[in-house]
Amino acid sequence: MKAAILTGQNKPLEVDEVTIPPLEAGQVLVKVEYSGICGKQLEEINGKRGDDHYIPHLLGHEGSGTVSEVGPGVRKVKAGDHVVLHWIKGSGIDSAPPRFQRGNSTISAGWVTTFSEYTVVSENRVTPFTAEIEFAAAALMGCAVTTGLGIVFNNAALMPGQSMAVFGVGGVGINVIQGAALVNAYPIVAIDLFEHKLEQAKSFGATHTLNASYSDVAKVLSEMTGGKGFDAVVDVTGNSAVRQIAYNATSNTGITIFAGVPHHEETITVDSFPLHFGRRVVGSHGGETKPDVDIPKYIQLYQLGKLKLDEQITHRFSLAEINDAVALMQKGDVGRCVISMSD
Ligand SMILES: [Zn+2]
Repeated sequence: MKAAILTGQNKPLEVDEVTIPPLEAGQVLVKVEYSGICGKQLEEINGKRGDDHYIPHLLGHEGSGTVSEVGPGVRKVKAGDHVVLHWIKGSGIDSAPPRFQRGNSTISAGWVTTFSEYTVVSENRVTPFTAEIEFAAAALMGCAVTTGLGIVFNNAALMPGQSMAVFGVGGVGINVIQGAALVNAYPIVAIDLFEHKLEQAKSFGATHTLNASYSDVAKVLSEMTGGKGFDAVVDVTGNSAVRQIAYNATSNTGITIFAGVPHHEETITVDSFPLHFGRRVVGSHGGETKPDVDIPKYIQLYQLGKLKLDEQITHRFSLAEINDAVALMQKGDVGRCVISMSD
């Protein structure tokens, strides 16, 4: 089967034939239909988090597909089941990660990878669904949607009428906006550098938008709340200067949530005094999502017409075109890209 392989940092992925290993205990073989592509894979490609000792390896951590075969001990799914592939641990066995072969060399892979026609994943990284939902939309449940909504519902526990500001309205940020709109937060402020992303943010429920390329964001946010600060401020950019502004824009009883991953050498300095009044700072881990519980609920919201999924997908690529998708993502001027494995 064909897979996209990371053979070195800062170079294009190589799409080549790899051999699928026999299934071990707790592993599931899935025919991948769609994979999303997100910031995490860009970080792996551009080495943002430092050296990578697993190269060469497969990548991708949100997807959808159909179960082909299950390994010993697997009870959660069976052949033919439609599944969401996610990096956050759910119920089931935490298996050994698979090892693929390319010629005579071993290709590493994590507990879930999705940039390939088939994949071997750990039982706890799949969640089955029976709803009639397009595979492309289901793929977004693997990371972007669950993380974004989880930030609002789990990390911020945002209530109706509370205020939220979101820095960076890409794949995750747009779902933070959508989650804030679902609980009737107000205002919901989207901040980004790209005008059309801000337009998209409005259609997902942002009540105000700020273009950071020409606005004094810190000043405008302060004025909007009469100097009080926001109940919740989310940074999805991972940029240190932005995180600093996010922290300062949070009210003394509010919460700053860091969702973007910073460069491994970057740090921030904060005035810790407001922490004594109750301000909190947390790093989100996938929105603290519980896949088995949350994914079915979110699919239901989608079926009720309350959650926009299809509208998030701005570009579709084939596996052969994956480097074009990566290049487009690097430029930043893009919504969600999905890779179709059957094209
Ligand atoms: Zn992701």
